[in-house]
Amino acid sequence: MHYFAYKGDDLYAEDVPLEKLARDYGTPLYVYSKRTLLRHIRAYSEAFGGDPSRGDESPMGIVSFALKANSNGAILGLLASEGAGADIVSGGELFRALRAGIPASKIVYAGVGKTADEIVYALKKNILMFNVESDEELEKINRVAGQAGRKAPVALRVNPDVDPLTHPYISTGLKKYKFGVPIEEALEFYMKARKMENIEIIGVHEHIGSQLTRIAPFRDALEKVLALIEKLWASGIKLKYLDLGGGLGIRYRRGESEKPPEPAALAKSLLPLVKGRGLTVIVEPGRSVAGNAGVLLTRCLYRKKTAVKRFVIVDAGMNDLVRPSLYGAYHEIIPVRRNRRAALKVDVVGPICESGDFLATDRRMPAVLAGEFLCVLGAGAYGFSMSSNYNSRPHPAEVMVDGGEVRLIRKRGTYRDLIRGEL
Ligand SMILES: *Cc1c(COP(=O)(O)O)cnc(C)c1O
Repeated sequence: MHYFAYKGDDLYAEDVPLEKLARDYGTPLYVYSKRTLLRHIRAYSEAFGGDPSRGDESPMGIVSFALKANSNGAILGLLASEGAGADIVSGGELFRALRAGIPASKIVYAGVGKTADEIVYALKKNILMFNVESDEELEKINRVAGQAGRKAPVALRVNPDVDPLTHPYISTGLKKYKFGVPIEEALEFYMKARKMENIEIIGVHEHIGSQLTRIAPFRDALEKVLALIEKLWASGIKLKYLDLGGGLGIRYRRGESEKPPEPAALAKSLLPLVKGRGLTVIVEPGRSVAGNAGVLLTRCLYRKKTAVKRFVIVDAGMNDLVRPSLYGAYHEIIPVRRNRRAALKVDVVGPICESGDFLATDRRMPAVLAGEFLCVLGAGAYGFSMSSNYNSRPHPAEVMVDGGEVRLIRKRGTYRDLIRGEL
């Protein structure tokens, strides 16, 4: 559900016509809808936040937004004001989260390659916990914490070996991937961690993949993790936090082919299994909060026809939105001003000098003319955050729409920005 829709023939973000934004701010342009972001983060806090007035006996759950999906400070600030925490995977993300006002007490830190500097930084800021992904990392955290005169709060990221039924590049919870510790080695790992002087064991973490459109893999993974928690209890290790990760999918295609569950349905399936165990639940949604809350506006520069293809050449490339090139991901692309021209099968391609630079291939859409604007839907997550300056293209600008108001939340990059830091 999102607030990008046609009124008459003009596509709007909430109460603002996208054509006006494209003209005022230029293209390529990322446009976010505040109302959509709020709706999504509230859906999570209502589903997982816990409500003592309803007699939920577990402490309030924590909704930690996965920064890698979108780390613009204005968006993080908005989510912080809704009580969100953060799921981070680098020191840079910790910096951004804290700057945006997200409390350290709601920040969890995953990732297989934390450096000593990053660990020290996170310890000094008193984050909620490190989600540890290997033996050697645990030893490093223990050592670094000792040197810093601190005790590091940790959860073990377990790899439950569950197939999330999604794209292999965004799948993490199978044995063959680099993430987490195999669940059958987890008990041993906790036993070892228990003996470490500067480690405080407080939780367990799992995150099996992204763009999951079914509940079953979440449930399978949780059941395995709960079995582990019982074994830990039997060995005298009591955990406080159960971090279920993120991964809930969004609808990239119109129609019925993709129907990811709502956060409430996920909570309804998972929370009863957790109830009564005295665990605080953490969830780490990224895509399902930001994905459909953002679009990418681009202008058609040229059309080109060859013997085998028709191309629509636009001013946004794989450096601005890499998902189609990287994962073969599908993004709906619709005209900013609706027309009644006949549909043609086209490749929508960018200006980058790579054949892999496309936003869509063999897509049937109404004919587009040079100068017209197109809107790429579902670009709010893993859009700007994965963008680069490849081909020396400055970063696009980002704006946030709130009802009829528009706020520039990131200036368009400049040529000067391209050479910043070069000596
Ligand atoms: C990427 C990631 C997430 C967020 O995944 P989404 O599919 O965007 O919800 C959550 N937790 C961890 C550890 C991640 O790496």
